[in-house]
Amino acid sequence: MEISERAAQVTPSITLSIDSKAKAMKAEGIDVCGFGAGEPDFDTPEHIKTAAIAALQAGFTKYTPSSGIPELRQAIADKLAADNQLTYRATQVIVSNGAKHACYNAILATCQPGDEVIIPAPYWVSYPEMVRLTGAEPVIVPTFERNAWKMRAEDFENAMTPRTKMLILNSPCNPTGSVYTREELQAIVDVAAEEDIYILSDEIYEKLVYGETQHVSVASLSKEAYDLTITVNGFSKSYAMTGWRLGYLAAPEPVAKAVDSIQSHTTSNPSSFSQHGGLAALRGDQQPLADMREEFDMRRNYMVDRISKIPNVTAVKPQGAFYVLVNVSQLGLTSQNFADRLLSKASVAVIPGAAFGDDRVVRLSYATSIDIIKKGLDRFQEFCRTL
Ligand code: PMP
Repeated sequence: MEISERAAQVTPSITLSIDSKAKAMKAEGIDVCGFGAGEPDFDTPEHIKTAAIAALQAGFTKYTPSSGIPELRQAIADKLAADNQLTYRATQVIVSNGAKHACYNAILATCQPGDEVIIPAPYWVSYPEMVRLTGAEPVIVPTFERNAWKMRAEDFENAMTPRTKMLILNSPCNPTGSVYTREELQAIVDVAAEEDIYILSDEIYEKLVYGETQHVSVASLSKEAYDLTITVNGFSKSYAMTGWRLGYLAAPEPVAKAVDSIQSHTTSNPSSFSQHGGLAALRGDQQPLADMREEFDMRRNYMVDRISKIPNVTAVKPQGAFYVLVNVSQLGLTSQNFADRLLSKASVAVIPGAAFGDDRVVRLSYATSIDIIKKGLDRFQEFCRTL
């Protein structure tokens, strides 16, 4: 059987080879320190689980409207108003099977063959592949450590062509931990508005920002920004609900309608009882989220402090998410080689930047215990010394 051209273009994840090697080593009894995690190491808060269990027990086990139950869509609209200064009607909110699904739906609803989509690198692995699946073309814009890994408005402008349809922004960013300021976003929006370029704003790490850093929603900047932006968010990172598969987008009405139709013919509704968990997450106690953020912040400070003492590697202090991007380019290895050797020689698993479109860096997640972080960084430091 032959696979389609579009499917053939999708590349398997580079991270998988490191991951499967790390798993094989663990199965052999080797004590591997894993910095690869892309999900909180905390359990879903109890009151959210209880709400989903209650929904199941009450027989809430049937199809729901494909774009989500009205109460949840309204709760999301209320959250976007309260937290993000965004005015969306519930009908503009589509609940999907995770923010990943929401991103793909958003691109599918707006982009087509012949279109270009600008993606700043280092990027979240799935964006370019999603763009290719729609038949559009990803255009990668490199960013630099000296700019805290953020794309400047002029970098964006230089990458634009008459075919540019969309820009994908992810603040706080996976894998860089960067958070764009209001002014930086405004400058980018000004460029986008001149040519009516859409912005997919993936705000999944919104709640994980540290210190004085403030998250700003792109669509809240102005009417122009609102009209051009599709806001994506979800429950996976804020509420430690990765396995529940619950995310959403909010968009101008025609896009929301198109996504609703796409979803009604592809996946239908996200899991019925997950939606009740999501409702409890938004309407319930927010303290577990604050506790999780505090723990992440402590680990972040520890990691950045340790890495700053290792010769020949550098890291910008991340302002959000739960990753530290370490520049290992001075050590003379590609990111893949570095990650392979670190794993086989020091039993430490990190994600090579090649997976994110930047071979100078490796990504270390701090969604793991402080004990593993300490042990792993001892090994990391010793490994770098031997290079
Ligand atoms: N966007 C980014 C930037 C992410 O890192 C992730 C998860 N790794 C997602 C979206 C997808 O999240 P979800 O579990 O809600 O699909």
